[in-house]
Amino acid sequence: MGHDWVMRDDIPGPILPPASIGILGGGQLGRMLGYAARAMGYGIRVLDPEPLCPASAVADHVEVGAYDDLEAALRMARDCAVVTYELEHVAPGLVDAIDALGIPVRPGARALRVTQDRLAERAFVVAQGVAVAPWREVMVGDDEALDAALDIVGAPARLKAAFGGYDGRSQVRIATTRDRRMAWMDLGRASGQPAILEREVAFRAELSVIGARGLDGRYAAYPVFRNVHDRGILMSTEWPAGVPQAVDDAAASIGRALAEAIGLVGVLTVELFLLPDGSLVVNELAPRVHNSGHVTLDAAATSQFEQHIRAICGLPMGATDLLTPAAMVNVLGDGVRRPAQLGGIADALADAGVHLHVYGKRDVVERRKMGHLTAIAPPDGSSEDALDRAHAALERLSWMT
Ligand code: ADP
Ligand code: MG
Repeated sequence: MGHDWVMRDDIPGPILPPASIGILGGGQLGRMLGYAARAMGYGIRVLDPEPLCPASAVADHVEVGAYDDLEAALRMARDCAVVTYELEHVAPGLVDAIDALGIPVRPGARALRVTQDRLAERAFVVAQGVAVAPWREVMVGDDEALDAALDIVGAPARLKAAFGGYDGRSQVRIATTRDRRMAWMDLGRASGQPAILEREVAFRAELSVIGARGLDGRYAAYPVFRNVHDRGILMSTEWPAGVPQAVDDAAASIGRALAEAIGLVGVLTVELFLLPDGSLVVNELAPRVHNSGHVTLDAAATSQFEQHIRAICGLPMGATDLLTPAAMVNVLGDGVRRPAQLGGIADALADAGVHLHVYGKRDVVERRKMGHLTAIAPPDGSSEDALDRAHAALERLSWMT
């Protein structure tokens, strides 16, 4: 563990409690960032369209406004010493305007601009010499361009809107001629909008590397996480990922290189595909804490949320050690929209190594992320075993009707 933190003249001093931290976005990530900031003694101000958003439970103040509401964002930021964001879909103009007030936004506007546009993100990753799947830019409605791109990239392929996708939305798989014919309609985006066509990767595993870069440029990554998605939504994470050390090292050096190139302060997540030959390709970036890192709340020396708060406040990084093998499963909504009341909790927690996290969303919505479960293995146990137990606990939960 490093105790070599030194004050330097060229770096602003740390932001200390009881200063307030502003968060653009009040979802579950904002809520868990808020817990960490609150634990350290900071105040919390949030911008979200919903007054009763998940982060409202830990915020001193929720400024109600959309993620492109400049006035609301400036009101939220007013008393903050630093501002961060919990999602990429914030208008970059907000960040510029807050910055112009002299309030630092970390990570900054550049990270936002690069990661909210899949094409800009691809170009950026490629410029750093980091591998990605073969891809082509296409414009929605341009059949010739799509055919040409499919010829180059090969099928099956993924067609993704450049802007606004998350949890597998705004992307379609093209495997057959019929998929190809339906592609624009299935994507549901207006003609002329930018999109990307990329080859579907026959990966051995999906991994993510989560690392934080401090104001002083130091970078610290967690060991990689192994993730399983279903139709674009994260289902489960295993930690450790059970990959050779060389894969872990390669992932961390990708994370470090990208964080440095973007000049990012805070947490950067890189979603990766592990290929059968052991090499890695980048899927996408998130300049923020990530669903696959939730397991760090219960199984790491420092949670990803605390790490992000430390980084954006200019404090030294916490240790990134995995303390015990663990697994996380998401608790998704199902069925018709209705008030969220979770049943079976006592049964799920009958396994003493299982922990429940509920995000406080008012309504259950089909496939909405409502909470997660973590299962902790004994120190000599395995993450596979933890995953089995997390799944068993999940089976016992249900949304009441
Ligand atoms: P989102 O922004 O919705 O997370 P992603 O591009 O990460 O979008 O896609 C979601 C998931 O879809 C990925 O985690 C992966 O499981 C699958 N996927 C996306 N692109 C590809 C690809 N090129 N090859 C294989 N699987 C992919
Ligand atoms: Mg993704």
